[in-house]
Amino acid sequence: MKQVYLDTYGCQMNVADTSRMELLLFHSGYLRTGEVEDADLVLINTCSIREKAEQKIYSLAGSLKPLKEANPDLILGVTGCLAQQEGEQMLQKMPFLDLILGPDGVENIVQAVDEVRNTNHPVVWTHFDSAKNYRIPELSNETPLHPGPSAFVNIIKGCDKFCTFCVVPFTRGREKSREAEEIEREVRLLVSRGAKEIILLGQNVNAYGKRGLDQPVPFHELLYRVASIPGVERLRFTTSHPMDFTRECIEAYRDIDVLVNHLHLPVQSGSNRVLQEMRRGHTVEEYVALIDALRAEVPDISLSTDIIVGFPEETDSEFEDTLALMERVEFSSSYMFCYSPRPDTPAQDFPDSVPLSVKSARLQRTMRLQDRLTGEQGRRFLNREVEVLVEGRTSKRGADFKGRNPQYWMVNFTGDREMIQPGDWVTVVVEEVFGHAFKGRAVSRVREGKRVDFKADAPAAIE
Ligand code: SF4
Repeated sequence: MKQVYLDTYGCQMNVADTSRMELLLFHSGYLRTGEVEDADLVLINTCSIREKAEQKIYSLAGSLKPLKEANPDLILGVTGCLAQQEGEQMLQKMPFLDLILGPDGVENIVQAVDEVRNTNHPVVWTHFDSAKNYRIPELSNETPLHPGPSAFVNIIKGCDKFCTFCVVPFTRGREKSREAEEIEREVRLLVSRGAKEIILLGQNVNAYGKRGLDQPVPFHELLYRVASIPGVERLRFTTSHPMDFTRECIEAYRDIDVLVNHLHLPVQSGSNRVLQEMRRGHTVEEYVALIDALRAEVPDISLSTDIIVGFPEETDSEFEDTLALMERVEFSSSYMFCYSPRPDTPAQDFPDSVPLSVKSARLQRTMRLQDRLTGEQGRRFLNREVEVLVEGRTSKRGADFKGRNPQYWMVNFTGDREMIQPGDWVTVVVEEVFGHAFKGRAVSRVREGKRVDFKADAPAAIE
């Protein structure tokens, strides 16, 4: 069998696309390798959401040039959002590349590789087929290559929001939902292969059902449908937009037992002027009202968010508004970034007189505040029991296994290696908090409905 080396950057959508390419290539005779030197095909699945990610990928692709020189039969390809954004330009900058494939072409990876082999010419496929529906038939009909206790399922791709700072509508195209029946088939298959937790995935999952379906299905209805599939023991989704978060979604949190009490809801800024410039479509007050309504139904829900500091012309007081919003909502974690202009986006042309040093200082303050908020919330779990779905072994010192609790905290814990395996439900007593992670001790395990209690004096395994 030939070998393919796959490297992934960016979001979970890219991770899912890489898995899809791996499956398609497997059926065309490629086995995944972890050693780039052994590969006949190297694919870097890229991200262009921020300038830093882009620079990193260019430098990585450049570092692979000697491999190509040593082995002219090697096919070297770049896929994903940066490939979409750069297209032919990327080939001009790096003429040793054989393949440039945008996210909309992931399903054609085998044909693209064949075309390179057959013609001996580079292939650049970055067109969007707006008439094409979003279907992933191979994932709903075949065994996944690496089934795990926690599985991602794509439900929607692209985005129609066109926030002024974001490249996604340009790199991933317009919103298209996947048929609910196909999603349900994939979930049933994953559950039959051992998945316990299903994570519904998309750039904007709660816009699900509006475009690309023969019969519209609202997002909350999809939640109920997936939750009712026997064997789905935990359900999550990411990422959502406040504008699409309906009352029915809040009620779904209240009513669906397996839907976890965690929500990632990007807010980006605490200033109404900045939100308007970002074209987010809502105000700070509307965001807070949404959170309050959700907390009224699910009091212990934990909330995470995305924050951009240093958006063009952000003033000191607008930045302070962001800090005040973080305090008000008490996010358990945040993805925080300094704004960087992205190609093709309207904000790229906005005037901006705020020095980079000021933006960096704001980012540091945001991070410090989030550290404090995370610590305060983490300490509320100390000496309490949390339910963890075991993902596998951990490399963290002084712990044996890792998994997540419903509020999405990473939990590293000690436990009997003979008694615990991936996919088990384990009750862990939280003993320490580190950043957005806990360390603790397993006190019981549930597997196939049967509970085993561990003796409190059992010795912890030594690393
Ligand atoms: S909603 Fe999210 S993915 Fe869509 S344009 Fe805005 S930031 Fe980008």
